[in-house]
Amino acid sequence: MAAMVAPKVEQRARRIHVSGIVQGVGFRPFVYRLAKDMGLKGFVRNTPHGVEIHIEGDGASRSFVERLRGSAPPNARIDRIEVLPDTDQGYADFTIDTTSGGEATVFAPPDLFLCGECFDELFTPSDRRYRYPFINCTNCGPRYTIIRGLPYDRVNTTMKVFRMCPRCDGEYRDPSDRRFHAEPNACPDCGPGVFFTEGGEKVPGGIERAVERLRQGMLLALKGMGGFHLLCDARNARAVERLRDLKQRERKPFALMARDLETVEAVADVTGDEKAVLLSAQRPIVLVRKRTQIEGISPGIPTYGIMLPYTPLHALIMERIPLVVATSANLREGPILKDESEGVRELSDCLLTHNRDIVMRCDDSVLKLAAGRRIFVRRARGFVPEPLGINFEGRNRILSLGGELKNTVSILKDGYIITSQYLGDMKDLGNRQYLEEVIAHFSTLYAFVPDVVTCDLHPDFTTTRMAEGWGKPVVRVQHHMAHVFAVLAEHGLSPEEPFLGVALDGVGYGEDGRIWGGEFFVGGRGMIQRAFHVRYVPQQGGDLATLEPWRMALGYTMDALGKPVRMGVLATVDEKKLTAAGNAIRQGVNSPLTSSVGRLFDAVSAILGIAPLRIDYEAEAAMRLEGIACEDAQEYYPFEVRGDEIDMRETIRAVVEDTAPPAVISGKFHNTIAQVILTVCEASRKRYGIQRVILSGGVFLNAVLLARAITSLREMGVEVYAPEKLSPGDEAISVGQAYFAALNRGEA
Ligand code: ZN
Ligand code: ZN
Ligand code: FE
Repeated sequence: MAAMVAPKVEQRARRIHVSGIVQGVGFRPFVYRLAKDMGLKGFVRNTPHGVEIHIEGDGASRSFVERLRGSAPPNARIDRIEVLPDTDQGYADFTIDTTSGGEATVFAPPDLFLCGECFDELFTPSDRRYRYPFINCTNCGPRYTIIRGLPYDRVNTTMKVFRMCPRCDGEYRDPSDRRFHAEPNACPDCGPGVFFTEGGEKVPGGIERAVERLRQGMLLALKGMGGFHLLCDARNARAVERLRDLKQRERKPFALMARDLETVEAVADVTGDEKAVLLSAQRPIVLVRKRTQIEGISPGIPTYGIMLPYTPLHALIMERIPLVVATSANLREGPILKDESEGVRELSDCLLTHNRDIVMRCDDSVLKLAAGRRIFVRRARGFVPEPLGINFEGRNRILSLGGELKNTVSILKDGYIITSQYLGDMKDLGNRQYLEEVIAHFSTLYAFVPDVVTCDLHPDFTTTRMAEGWGKPVVRVQHHMAHVFAVLAEHGLSPEEPFLGVALDGVGYGEDGRIWGGEFFVGGRGMIQRAFHVRYVPQQGGDLATLEPWRMALGYTMDALGKPVRMGVLATVDEKKLTAAGNAIRQGVNSPLTSSVGRLFDAVSAILGIAPLRIDYEAEAAMRLEGIACEDAQEYYPFEVRGDEIDMRETIRAVVEDTAPPAVISGKFHNTIAQVILTVCEASRKRYGIQRVILSGGVFLNAVLLARAITSLREMGVEVYAPEKLSPGDEAISVGQAYFAALNRGEA
């Protein structure tokens, strides 16, 4: 009765390639459970490019891929899934093939915080890892800071020296176990331990004693994930003061670690978005608005930087003390200390260390939120080394050495930019060694050898000289163009489309040899050109003016009014110093010209008497001005755009004459800078038909300004792009250099 129909040849087997962050995050066990659940046969394995899956079974490949995408483990990031037909091999089961090899992928996993399941086990008395400070699983634990090389296997980590006991080994080999191939897997019988040192005596254990010392007001150096923290009881003003003496920091904000969200909420007003970031897998330090004043933590500014415990060791300590200062242990501006031998004893009364070595030091990340958007104040632990895809496959492998302050390095390989953690100021010898450690680490991790090296235009930077000595072609990128290109890179934007690149910044070497920092570039069709800039004013004292904001107030008031004004901080400066500085400006001695908007913020902060006489940390004067800004202020001050120059003299005159409270003046000043951006944007729209605006540069760490600029530009109907995955500041310079060089030398 039925007609003869040729059987439909159905390709039942599929080969699936998944790329992204899929190694070291529990991806293979997840695939295994999924395949088992769907009755599929085949295997899953790690490859140099991600994960490869072979499945065969009853035509379930589509729903398999959907579930793969939809229910991946929390710390995985799938960039691409490629599905190809494959031949049926008649597999009897689904297995995890643990062989891996080949050339290293661009994906190394970042460090992850203690997950909920491990947290519960940590505090369950009957659990075999009860109170064990190194508990972890495939969803949590250290990664980047303990990896010596890829592929990410135990032998390539600092866990190699700890031989797993039979029970741990059983978990490690069992595909249905949460600890299947959890490379740092350990327990009290076989894993690392902690040691307490006091008065030259080192004993195993000692978490209780360490907490006791904290409660007694002593300073504890604690070895964590990416290095040492210095801890003290945040409520003990004398301990905080001693810590300030030891770190030689008068006012620089100290980060806090709080036991839980309730503790955070007791001292700060936390929004829903901020809570989400505090609890996120990266567990960064989040800047939140103060509710109560805790003496000595962050004098002069309205926020605290707070984080929650992110390792089991932190959780065990915080169980007994609700709020501590947890600041990176370093010597002045140097790198975070990672070994006992690096001088951490001199900074503390006692030490709690452990014997799991740290390969790669790494600070805590710092974030703040502006109208729900995140701003990276410091990008490090948890976010590094997450690769940034750039939709552009040049043939060249690029090493970008960045700039000088708040530096990072980046490498570009296989269409991805990988950026290091925050490395600090390159003037410090320790930080320069840190930079070399990172380059060596990246070279091993990613089997990376550069074809091209990039650096800043500044002839005297250490990184410029390093690039010149590399023996490869060098691409020099102007500092603020690099800022703009970093934002283009993170949003995957092509520089072919016309754009206005706004770079408001502290300092960068300009194409004319002057100090730039208030620059507006017009770009498109692969070109970029400076179209507008803030009027040059004298930066009396050169770099000294960055430390003493009154020097900028002097330069600005003399330019705007023809004479110095003795108000605000200027009224407190020593008479002789002030006269000498004034004369130097008149004679053009030691007074290089600058268009820096960072310095303009310093000037206004000093005129209002908000800035200190001498700052204790970078951008202190500007942060204080932002801190007092009245959010309700609607007006702005006058300014003038003449030709390519943005003249701020009228603004300065208006600020000097305004009798409103400093908070209102600050609010109006923030509005003024937003209005400058708007005005230039309008002009470029008319002149060049630009519809796309890029906001970049360290000044956009200012949340008030960033929020206002974005809101008003959107109202104007232009597309606005601002930094979100990277810092607006100089940590992004190496990224911008890499993208710039890829586009310009990509086919070289
Ligand atoms: Zn876990
Ligand atoms: Zn064990
Ligand atoms: Fe900069």
